[in-house]
Amino acid sequence: MSTPALKIYNTLSRTKEEFRPIDPAHVRMYVCGPTVYDYAHIGNARPLIVFDVLFRLLRHLYGAEHVTYVRNITDVDDKINARAFERGISIRELTDKTIDIFHEDVRALGCLNPTIEPRATDYIRNDDKQIDMVRLIQRLLDSGHAYVEDRHVLFDVTSMPTYGRLSRRPLDEMIAGARVDVAPYKRGDMDFVLWKPSKDDEPGWQSPWGRGRPGWHIECSAMSAAHLGETFDIHGGGIDLVFPHHENEIAQSCCAFGRDVMANYWMHNGFLQVEGEKMSKSLGNFVTIHELLHTEKFGGRKWPGEVLRLAMLRTHYRQPIDWTVKALEEAETKLTYWMTAMDFSVAPLGSDGRIADQPLRSDEIPSTYLEALSDDLNTPLAMQILDRAFSELRTDRVLSIMLELSGIDLEAFRAWRHDQDQAFFEKHGDIVKRLITARLAARASKNWAESDRIRDELAAMGIALKDNKDGTTTWEVKR
Ligand code: AMP
Ligand code: ZN
Repeated sequence: MSTPALKIYNTLSRTKEEFRPIDPAHVRMYVCGPTVYDYAHIGNARPLIVFDVLFRLLRHLYGAEHVTYVRNITDVDDKINARAFERGISIRELTDKTIDIFHEDVRALGCLNPTIEPRATDYIRNDDKQIDMVRLIQRLLDSGHAYVEDRHVLFDVTSMPTYGRLSRRPLDEMIAGARVDVAPYKRGDMDFVLWKPSKDDEPGWQSPWGRGRPGWHIECSAMSAAHLGETFDIHGGGIDLVFPHHENEIAQSCCAFGRDVMANYWMHNGFLQVEGEKMSKSLGNFVTIHELLHTEKFGGRKWPGEVLRLAMLRTHYRQPIDWTVKALEEAETKLTYWMTAMDFSVAPLGSDGRIADQPLRSDEIPSTYLEALSDDLNTPLAMQILDRAFSELRTDRVLSIMLELSGIDLEAFRAWRHDQDQAFFEKHGDIVKRLITARLAARASKNWAESDRIRDELAAMGIALKDNKDGTTTWEVKR
């Protein structure tokens, strides 16, 4: 069986294109990561999951050792400074703590570690690398694409004729409609900051332009070049990053290195909204990954990472996604079914009648599954095919590799349910036992009203009872 061609919707061309890596022996992807001043919200989880599926697929298609995935951490930002000041802690303490929580969250969502996770502050000046932010800015100054004004360094957008190509906003239109921050140190309204001065109580680094700190966009140009080279294959992030962030990354990298292209394929995930509304703190529907996993804020209960992941994958990554309790419940029902079906799936037998332990051949995976994933990550279709594979009772090896490709860990889901049941019984075990015994006694004396009352009481506690034809009663914890 031949491997299906990978097709990717490229924001640059606004079309689906066949993916051709610059070097198939070294496929290179960069995705903009979190700004670590607070817990990541569930919208932030979308690019993490989407690009994790792509990373898994690229590893499958090109070999794990041939794929490099860089996802940065933004640990220098004015929101970080403000938050650390508010809490009375150092910036490093705030960012270290936030990074730890972020790592717990992404692990719970079933994401692999990226190959490299650079922190912006390590790349302001970095003598171990060919390039860092200060040297990149210096190159832009030397080549006439930037200027110094009042201790700021600014990128001169008029110096780049193709500025606006990714977002398809011609510069003259942008200038005409500009509401962007007009500042005295800017020659043109659309010019953006590469370096800015720091006050004494603000974090700062020494530079040829005085003590200061970088603008937002320059870090991704520096970190991607440091690890992936001047031109690489795929650059990803959420749709809100197309302008200005990615447009400005392209301007910086192309102008600093004298190239036409920073990355060949630009991929952007659509936005997440909650129960049909934009997620915002003022609407009270703002929910973090941490809250979904560990608190009862959303839908009155906790949700395991596998449910969050599957709910995300059931919508195509470029579509907007509506995050609802109902969608999470549906994802959980699917996972429960898959978990049970997995118990009945069989290990394949070798010709000698013993369980085969040869490595899985890729033609054992239904080709439609790989085709769906390779078609611009059509995960909704892939999830349907996976669901069908469970009802067809494919071998557990095949099911496992299909799950692995999408990053769905059924064993982790099983363990989560087990822990939940355990916690439930530690809390309510005695009373549940007493109520079930009392109901059996009521039924034995044909006191149906009392029996029904107890059933309702148990239902209110989340216990569903089932009276079987053979006279026995079974029960389960409803989630
Ligand atoms: P930030 O920390 O705000 O820079 O965002 C980190 C990543 O999450 C970026 O790729 C954003 O585009 C993405 N993102 C932020 N909010 C949402 C949302 N509501 N839906 C989908 N992606 C989002
Ligand atoms: Zn970036």
